[in-house]
Amino acid sequence: MKSSMRAVTLVSPGHLECVNTEIPVVQNPHDVLIKVHACGVCGSDIARVMVKGAHKMPIIIGHEFAGEVVEIGLDVKTTKVADRVTIMPLVPCGQCDYCRIGEYTLCDDYEYYGSRIPGAMAEYILVNERNVLKLPENVDYEMGAMTDPVSVALHAVRKAGVEAGQSAVVFGLGAIGFVAVQWLKNLGCTNVVAVDIFDEKLNLAKTLGADLTINGKTTDAVKAIQDYTGGKGVDVAIELAGSKFTQPQAVLSVSKMGKVVYCGISYDDLILPNQALNAILRGELIILGSWNSSIAPLPINEWESALKFMNNGKIRVKPLISHRVRLEDCQSVFEMMFYKKEVFTKVMFQPEL
Ligand SMILES: [Zn+2]
Ligand SMILES: [Zn+2]
Repeated sequence: MKSSMRAVTLVSPGHLECVNTEIPVVQNPHDVLIKVHACGVCGSDIARVMVKGAHKMPIIIGHEFAGEVVEIGLDVKTTKVADRVTIMPLVPCGQCDYCRIGEYTLCDDYEYYGSRIPGAMAEYILVNERNVLKLPENVDYEMGAMTDPVSVALHAVRKAGVEAGQSAVVFGLGAIGFVAVQWLKNLGCTNVVAVDIFDEKLNLAKTLGADLTINGKTTDAVKAIQDYTGGKGVDVAIELAGSKFTQPQAVLSVSKMGKVVYCGISYDDLILPNQALNAILRGELIILGSWNSSIAPLPINEWESALKFMNNGKIRVKPLISHRVRLEDCQSVFEMMFYKKEVFTKVMFQPEL
């Protein structure tokens, strides 16, 4: 095997380079070396690369990926060479109070592939076997690389505790939004509304199961939702846009006793008008935060559920891939996304291109 590889490296905020670097070497008996076939860009990557920077730099970024096992450490038991796999990028400490009750994503002292330890936007990545999940047969590498957003969407929908026959609205059609629409339908919501500002995304949401789509740029989304529900409001709102326009709209879209889940990352203050505060108080609304996804084994491991539902075709992610790009084009691709030069949903880096 060759000894060097290409890797997308964050040098400093706003500055990416595709560098030649050593292929990591299996040393720890539980290490697994994976040849990366697809690595998606997460919304969190865009902010990390263009604005915030990572905890340590330079660092190889990328945590949403799938690939093939090419080498394993001496004590690896759970995976073998040639397995097609994805990985859960979180490495929880296992010691803190949250880890001890299985709430790993709330860990006080975690590592994370692609932001704190070397990531997967490269030809190869070294991971611990604990993090590895095998891809089921109908899940290809690109789909496997989307297990993370599929799990994050499931987590947000489960936070809302949706019941069969309920209604819901999803604000923001990024990859997570498109998948949230599908989870809501799969979990029994009969009336699912999707709100975005691009008609092409709204059309796609319809083909993926949305019952009503609203262009929030040209239509008053709250009024349209109130009209659709006979003035009552929907049972659940999931806010994924992280925008100052949709954050209050989420509150104003739900019925009394409704639930609002905030999941869209934002770097601005959350400002709610008095009308929204009134709705929270008088309607006894439940406002929830949702972060990442659950990898505890009970009641479900959301990553395993994500893989099952991609495998049985009930969660479709292939139509969400808007761009397939080369590692060498990292800087221009991130600028395209950050400055919104093109409409995109999931941008997939392909090390073999
Ligand atoms: Zn992610
Ligand atoms: Zn912990």
